[in-house]
Amino acid sequence: MDCDKAIYRVYGYLDGELTVWRRWTIRRHLGKCPPCAEGFDFEIELRQVISTKCRDDVPPELKQRIAEALGVSLPPDAASPDDGGPVERSV
Ligand SMILES: [Zn+2]
Repeated sequence: MDCDKAIYRVYGYLDGELTVWRRWTIRRHLGKCPPCAEGFDFEIELRQVISTKCRDDVPPELKQRIAEALGVSLPPDAASPDDGGPVERSV
């Protein structure tokens, strides 16, 4: 199995749509191929984020990893609200 096929089949693997034989061939490839194993881990984490996106407790380090994998950068303080302009506060 080459890497393209392995990654393509990972989706079916995660969805539980593959036969036992195909799942085994993917696991064997992942065991021999660190780049694919890394992609597989990322796919699992991404699904966890998607499945928990209604909750607001995604670990910051996981967001960071996803941002890095997608080639984007997170704002330094993602928690600060941006609701249209600076807020003047009188002290
Ligand atoms: Zn591979």
